[in-house]
Amino acid sequence: MSQQKRVLILGGTGDATELVVKAADIPEVEVITSLAGRTRQPIVPFGNTRIGGFGGLTGLITYLQAQPIDVLIDATHPFAAQISLNAAAAAAKVGIPHLMLIRPAWKPVAGDDWIDVDSNAAAAKVLPELAQRIFLTIGRQELAAFAHLKTWFLMRMIDPPLPDTLVPLGQVLLDRGPFSLENERSLLQQYEIGAIVSKNSGGDATYAKIIAARERKIPVVMVQRPAVPTGEKVADVESAIAWLKNKVSK
Ligand code: NAP
Repeated sequence: MSQQKRVLILGGTGDATELVVKAADIPEVEVITSLAGRTRQPIVPFGNTRIGGFGGLTGLITYLQAQPIDVLIDATHPFAAQISLNAAAAAAKVGIPHLMLIRPAWKPVAGDDWIDVDSNAAAAKVLPELAQRIFLTIGRQELAAFAHLKTWFLMRMIDPPLPDTLVPLGQVLLDRGPFSLENERSLLQQYEIGAIVSKNSGGDATYAKIIAARERKIPVVMVQRPAVPTGEKVADVESAIAWLKNKVSK
């Protein structure tokens, strides 16, 4: 057991949870999961989990050195740009192996009507021309970008907006994915949705709304991903496990 390598997995995604479970099966590995603490009832993988920010780049460097952490895997959401930047910089500073698990972005297929934008602010600009009733699926953190509009929104998120958040006009729907195609079809119909705003998150858990929009022939305003730090990357959990096995066997 003394030869175990301590692996910090930055989580907050379904992929991260799956990765933690599979990494814990590797005898040479001791896993610590880190969650930001954004959701009230996070899905906490079994084993050693810490919750809350590290205190910026310097806090993360201090944490990596104090534990000490041997390997860092960033399995955070593609839109969690700050923690990914910090992770890449901290791992380089401390001199430990670092991997990013980034699921591939969705790509439009025949029948999709996407309007690509590079931010929520840019999404808000195109909406007034697009539809009166919008399905807003960007979570609760960036609602304020849409609060100045007169458009009606169905806003889906895991937890209610924080008390000091500017909330757009419309209805909040509390729910956690994965979402079925039946569910998404019926929401679009029931609320007479004319367009969707989505982050290009990739993966299956939230893709059904994109299919439902295609079927209904309504546009999707697709917020493109932020830049990713340079460094080693894989696209799926199996590849991350193969990378980890290779690192800990050395
Ligand atoms: P972010 O903007 O990149 O991070 C902001 C700060 O939150 C970081 O600087 C860090 O604080 C803390 N943080 C983020 N992820 C952390 C983690 N796994 N463990 C410990 N601290 C973390 O991130 P975000 O977009 O707010 O996302 C927060 C979490 O929600 C992430 O874990 C992400 O995987 C998950 N998530 C995000 C989205 C999204 O659309 N952004 C969607 C689904 C899930 P310090 O600087 O103090 O260390």
